[in-house]
Amino acid sequence: MVNQETLEKYAELALKTGVNLQKGQALMINAPIEGADFTKLVAKKAWELGAKDVHINWSDDDLTLWKYKNAPDEVIENYPEWKVKLHDMYAEDGAAVLSIRSTNPDLLQDIDPTRVAKANKVATQALVNFRKYTMNDKITWSIISIPTGDWAQKIFPDKSREDAIESLWEAIIKIVRVDQLDPVKAWEAHNQTLEKAREVLNDKNYHKLVFKAPGTNLEMELPKGHIWKGGSAVSEQGITFNPNMPTEEVFSMPHKYGVNGTVASTKPLNYGGSLIDKFSLTFKNGEVVDFKAEQGEDVLKHLLKADEGSRRLGEVALVPHESPVSQSGLIFYNTLFDENASCHIALGKAYPTNLEGGSKMDAEELDKHGVNDSLNHVDFMIGSEKLDIDGVKEDGTTEPIFRNGTWALNVK
Ligand code: ZN
Ligand code: ZN
Repeated sequence: MVNQETLEKYAELALKTGVNLQKGQALMINAPIEGADFTKLVAKKAWELGAKDVHINWSDDDLTLWKYKNAPDEVIENYPEWKVKLHDMYAEDGAAVLSIRSTNPDLLQDIDPTRVAKANKVATQALVNFRKYTMNDKITWSIISIPTGDWAQKIFPDKSREDAIESLWEAIIKIVRVDQLDPVKAWEAHNQTLEKAREVLNDKNYHKLVFKAPGTNLEMELPKGHIWKGGSAVSEQGITFNPNMPTEEVFSMPHKYGVNGTVASTKPLNYGGSLIDKFSLTFKNGEVVDFKAEQGEDVLKHLLKADEGSRRLGEVALVPHESPVSQSGLIFYNTLFDENASCHIALGKAYPTNLEGGSKMDAEELDKHGVNDSLNHVDFMIGSEKLDIDGVKEDGTTEPIFRNGTWALNVK
């Protein structure tokens, strides 16, 4: 069993390096009931660190599933007003938000995708104000994971439930550097590496990226004034935090009208409790004009139909193939991990913070600059040891950024 000391180190890392909880600040935690022990440990430490309030939104896969199976349409299609108020209240108070994501990737596989898509849509619509706080770094927020039984057994199908959970703990602890003597220090060093890579890319100021791999031949324009980010972020109040743990990516935004060609997925995508696998998308002037999937094509279709922005790209992220997540050799069926094993792109909303002055622009200005908007932001993986990426400058000069899935550009 993963020992108490390790769990305490992880809880502290989530609070100090993840959301960087300040004295007198409130903390809202989203957590699975199955992870109650760990979540309570986080809450206890938060109080000890001087939190003024700790609120936990508990969730449970079984409860979610029973609701989808039995609830009348009007309940599925309605996001409760009090939940919106709860989120807005904490955000407006400047609370830190820690989300522990550990859902069974197959949870909703037998539920009608239309029902799931509707529920996802009303939830994102209802929380649009709250999301402005996170997507513009107005508050500090972080997403982490802990093992849960069903999820662990999806990753390790041949193991007993107990052994699967144990193996997943071991993998996570290593990937988030909690196995190191001082994880907080280890993350400082890691953040510096990512900072260097994003500085190099910002200096290069590429006009276009070209992706080539089996099934992939994609040209992607980057908007003028795009910014590469990665590793730690800084909130409006100047507090440094880590939105994702793990994180191995440097990321920016594609021009919403400037993507052409075809891209193939390289890992399964867990979207709202359903899997989409072995799929490809064809773009013309930024919009998906054709798609196919060996698994979950229906779910993909619903995602692409959600709104116009769901057919355009909002993120491009570079992750070398030798990242610790990739080295684990596991497929996690959980985007937080899988996206950090692999270069990825996202359908849907772009982070306005990836554009100079973007977080101060209104919808019309963002559109003019090529910044995509949508209710969705869905990352999917396109990296492998066979991926090559070229950078094209404004004057047409071309240079290799990635070769065989890893940096060809000097970013050290
Ligand atoms: Zn990303
Ligand atoms: Zn993303």
